[in-house]
Amino acid sequence: MKLVGVYSSSHETFKDEWFLRTLKDDYEVCLYPSEARGHGNYMEADWQQAVRFKSAKIIETIQKNWGEVFVYSDMDVLFVGPTKTTIQSCLNGKDIVCQLDDPGGNLCTGFFAVRANDVTLKLWQQVQRATACEGRDQIAFNRLVRAMKEVRAGYLPPSFFGMGTFTGRQFPEASRIYIPANPVMFHANFTIGVEQKTALLDRAQRIITRHRPGRVANNLFFRLRHGMITPEVIKTLTRGDRITQHYDCNAFVRPSSVALDLSTACQLKCPSCPTATGVIAKSIGTGILPLANFEKFLQEHPWVSDIELSNWGEVFLNKDLESILRHAHERHVALRIDNGANLDRASDRVLEAVVKYNLRSLTCSIDGASQEVYSIYRVNGNFDRVIEHIRRINAFKKQYRSEYPALRWQYVAFGHNEHEIARARAMAGELGMEFYVKLSWDDLYGETFSPVKDRELIRKESGLGVADRREYEEKFNRNYIAPSCHQLWQRPHINFDGRVLGCSINHWDDFGNVFTNGGLEVCLKGEKMQRTKDMLMGVTEAHTDSPCVKCQIYASMVKNNAWIRPQELVGPSGGSGRNTSSLLSRSIRRVGRLYRRGRRFQRQGRK
Ligand code: SF4
Repeated sequence: MKLVGVYSSSHETFKDEWFLRTLKDDYEVCLYPSEARGHGNYMEADWQQAVRFKSAKIIETIQKNWGEVFVYSDMDVLFVGPTKTTIQSCLNGKDIVCQLDDPGGNLCTGFFAVRANDVTLKLWQQVQRATACEGRDQIAFNRLVRAMKEVRAGYLPPSFFGMGTFTGRQFPEASRIYIPANPVMFHANFTIGVEQKTALLDRAQRIITRHRPGRVANNLFFRLRHGMITPEVIKTLTRGDRITQHYDCNAFVRPSSVALDLSTACQLKCPSCPTATGVIAKSIGTGILPLANFEKFLQEHPWVSDIELSNWGEVFLNKDLESILRHAHERHVALRIDNGANLDRASDRVLEAVVKYNLRSLTCSIDGASQEVYSIYRVNGNFDRVIEHIRRINAFKKQYRSEYPALRWQYVAFGHNEHEIARARAMAGELGMEFYVKLSWDDLYGETFSPVKDRELIRKESGLGVADRREYEEKFNRNYIAPSCHQLWQRPHINFDGRVLGCSINHWDDFGNVFTNGGLEVCLKGEKMQRTKDMLMGVTEAHTDSPCVKCQIYASMVKNNAWIRPQELVGPSGGSGRNTSSLLSRSIRRVGRLYRRGRRFQRQGRK
């Protein structure tokens, strides 16, 4: 059997040091040098040239070996066992079998075995055409395999794995590697650059060659960190004859959790806030959700049990807030204000109601520890009044002997307020509030306001080792607020007038109206929403009718090839993974959460 590969000058080192040195079987090895010159980084010109060369060589090999089977492999591969027999048995009744690329079920074009026939020739000719336009082969390949019903495709078993197979995440952001039983091949994908790939191969080899107890311990730490039971995912993915889209969009059309913006009005004039600058008024309007519509929403969506109330405006300006809290309490629906309130204006009755009716949590945006500093960004805000309101809530909590609402102090770090972080943290402790530092918006909503000066301090205080959002993206290859996109699945956002905005960032367009278009389920099942979700998962190219094409976060996804992965969507609001959770997996996740929380407290304690 032939083993075919192509390599560019930047990847020659992998050919000699890893691929050929570790190969175990007696393949007829056919390696072709590409003329591409450069660093071989994803989507750079030389990388694209090498990808085009690869498609051409695969087509040529199919044509010259008609009726035979052969294996294609990238060079950044480490072999740890014989592969040939397994590959031959996997190809039985199939045209092509690939390494599983990620838990979402994508096929990897970096390691696969193929039967040279008219189906695979047509497939690769179409991939070649798509690659010429799109510059990359993997997304086109996955799209075409699913579209071409005549292709009999399948997965290689999980013993052929890569960095993304169990995590769907990039190295070194995700530093732990899950090692399946009896590994035979490891592919250093989901990382960028020769240095990182070498580090990844080194690490994988070190862990794989450990004795069994060492690998078991490694996997236990992996699960504590990532909180998932991957073998079950893999079992699901490898079942059946045809590749199907593992992720089922319909699992998310009746979310138990939603965000319903009670107000897009705000009395403050924070300089970089689009509500204060009038952008929100022009795009989605200024208004409040009346009690009658809140009641109607709960009536028509009985499966909703948890609602976030804040986003673009100040919740406490909604005059029906007290009645809304009471109504939700009577219907056993949990409410929270986690996106943030300034808490600058609130009557004693309402402050009592948030305790009496069990508002679950309340995040206050307080970016300073004195009126002087606080009001530089929170223009028109009164620091002492906000603190007094928090004291009143605490007094009511005592009176009602209630732990609700859990209070959080959100401190957006700017150049003008960084010197007051320590003082604010101490005040939060006295007030019984959780405290955290958030990176400022940079240019998300226009001009950057008051950039941080003491970058080392913010790197420490943010707990992320970064001082601003740009640095975050450079370090982690994804946007700081990329998880906002998950809201489309997990907690869809609805404007005060019923328009479904999907996430807390979108204000450009909507996906229908829950009050006039037949309810939330209909809006979430709509074609526009489905197309947008496919786009965000990198399954389809950008659609101009989706609001996401106007969003920086989507641009960052395209740039970093960092798409939404199905495993990220398994959350508190349910989803495809909820039904597969065993008691054991839930317990392991819980231990993982405790472990992470412990580390967070340790870090905070050190500061
Ligand atoms: S890309 Fe779309 S879903 Fe994601 S944050 Fe932007 S507008 Fe929201």
